[in-house]
Amino acid sequence: MVHSYHTPQHRHYDVVIIGGAMMGSSTAWFLKDNPDFKGRLLVIERDPTYANCSTSHTNSCIRLQFSEALNVRISQFGADFIKNLKRYMCNDERVPPLRIQNYGYMYLADNAAFADTLRANQKVQLAAGAGTRILTPDEIKREYPFYNVDDLVAGSINTVDEGYWDGITVFDWFRKSARERGAEYIANAVISMNKNKAGDHIESVVLATGEEIGCGQVVNASGPRGILTARMAGIEIPVEPRKRYTYIFSAEKPLDRELPLTIDPSGVHFRQDGKTTYLAGGHSAIDPAVDYDDFEMDHGLWQDHIWPHIAMRIPQFEAIKVTREWAGHYDYNVFDHNAILGPHTEVKNFIFLNGFSGHGLQQSPAMGRGTAEWLTYGAYQTLDLSPFHFERITAKKPFIEKAII
Ligand SMILES: Cc1cc2nc3c(=O)[nH]c(=O)nc-3n(C[C@H](O)[C@H](O)[C@H](O)COP(=O)(O)OP(=O)(O)OC[C@H]3O[C@@H](n4cnc5c(N)ncnc54)[C@H](O)[C@@H]3O)c2cc1C
Repeated sequence: MVHSYHTPQHRHYDVVIIGGAMMGSSTAWFLKDNPDFKGRLLVIERDPTYANCSTSHTNSCIRLQFSEALNVRISQFGADFIKNLKRYMCNDERVPPLRIQNYGYMYLADNAAFADTLRANQKVQLAAGAGTRILTPDEIKREYPFYNVDDLVAGSINTVDEGYWDGITVFDWFRKSARERGAEYIANAVISMNKNKAGDHIESVVLATGEEIGCGQVVNASGPRGILTARMAGIEIPVEPRKRYTYIFSAEKPLDRELPLTIDPSGVHFRQDGKTTYLAGGHSAIDPAVDYDDFEMDHGLWQDHIWPHIAMRIPQFEAIKVTREWAGHYDYNVFDHNAILGPHTEVKNFIFLNGFSGHGLQQSPAMGRGTAEWLTYGAYQTLDLSPFHFERITAKKPFIEKAII
């Protein structure tokens, strides 16, 4: 990767965001949208092509089926933001209308214990205003005749604000609009940080080109490389880059209705993509942390694992053909599968935006808004996101999200 690096216009910024993809740009946009934030803002992005970041490899789905009410509310705000993007962007005529393709997520249970988990999650989701329904195998078959339900005990589905959305358009608008409102974006990489004598404050970040840039607050929006960015501040986070594979396939006999994002008990998931194309995702049985630049496909995975499970669940998918495939990285939180947000416990001007695992894209509006509030007021004004703070990790008190994909 060779980029011509840029020099920032100033030597000091009130906020420096490290990473300009979905999370960094959402935060930049919400900061610049708030008249109370009067500071100078720099977004530093090491790869302005965004070729290998998680945002470019995403499957771009949203769901309300989480086990934690706070995650349901975060996605509800995400859905509102997507559907009303133009209004949020001050009715800018250039912003296209967006919708959510609401085919829902269909979680399938093949044992009583998981069916109980789905029922327990449904209670949380209903209380938060989601419309989750628990279906018997017969009901699943009636609504979606293409599924093989022989081994199933129950299914769980919600078809409001749940399905596919055009994440890349939202990303483009976060970035474009933040820049137009005065956020300075540069192509450069942060390679180290300098702290004050007491070690509780980041005074400056050092760029790959050698400049030292003073900062009031620093935001770690570096995706899977967030681990390296945290280490520059002397901080360890329980996050790993984990490889996730995506396949686009066409079927000899396409289905007669939209395929929900189906979470098969095998762990494989698949959904409608285009009109007659589908998307499947999964990971290898051995799922270690990988190198930051390792995007190689696992060539046996489709043939030996993913395709057999799809064909077992939907016999009509006996004859399907992969037309495109890619590997991407989750910034996988091994501690409790939830985001890590807010300030570090000791280095108080170092702000996390990390560990989003497989649900960061839909969370970006709420997480960017909350982080911008924290940076402006030192407190949350809308959703209280403090359960995601780093304290829980030092206190060894996980905030577990059970519904992860
Ligand atoms: C295969 C796959 C499927 C997914 N599906 C979904 C889904 O359906 N729904 C959903 O909600 N989420 C999904 N996700 C998760 C979602 O895409 C991510 O959580 C989200 O994109 C994370 O955005 P980010 O900005 O935190 O990280 P990234 O997009 O990885 O961006 C981090 C940026 O920081 C930059 N950077 C790193 N280090 C430095 C440095 N030192 N200096 C300067 N810049 C730096 C990088 O170049 C990069 O551009 C999926 C992820 C993957 C991989």
